Amino acid sequence: MPSYRVVAVGDRITDVVRKTLLSPGYGHPAHTEVAKGYGPCRQCLRTFSVGQERRILFTYDSFHGRENMPLPGPVFIHEDYCERYPEDGGFPVDMLSHKLTLNAYARGRRLVAQSYVSNGLIEHELERLLAQPDVAYIHVRDTDAGCYDFSIERKSDKQELDESKRSNGGDSHE
Ligand SMILES: [Zn+2]
Repeated sequence: MPSYRVVAVGDRITDVVRKTLLSPGYGHPAHTEVAKGYGPCRQCLRTFSVGQERRILFTYDSFHGRENMPLPGPVFIHEDYCERYPEDGGFPVDMLSHKLTLNAYARGRRLVAQSYVSNGLIEHELERLLAQPDVAYIHVRDTDAGCYDFSIERKSDKQELDESKRSNGGDSHE
């Protein structure tokens, strides 16, 4: 079992997006299309079948529920309902083939370390970053696209960071 949790975008947010086709907290229209890129879907963390699966593009604050200063950016989810990636599922396999950026943050959104990794180095890098006591959480971003994919948190931080209890993606921006 991995010593960390994989935190995908929560069901409450994706439910709102699919129902309203608006970006929660921002109100920007969400855009639906046939996938032109691999993604991934920020809920199930699987890559899209390009030219086949339909997806929704919306604006999401990657610090929602954690920090006061937002960092909104574009994310995709499947247009149809999908299963949120299990937090104890280990590093998502579909993501291993992509170049990824690991941004390790201390509380208060202070960037402590940044690593550029590709397949084979992920587990080692995560272990190294999470061993630093001031690292509170890690954002995983696509190195080529720059977009937010998901977060990594220590297992012991479960209490504080239950995504399912978070609200709708940035209420203060309505
Ligand atoms: Zn999905």
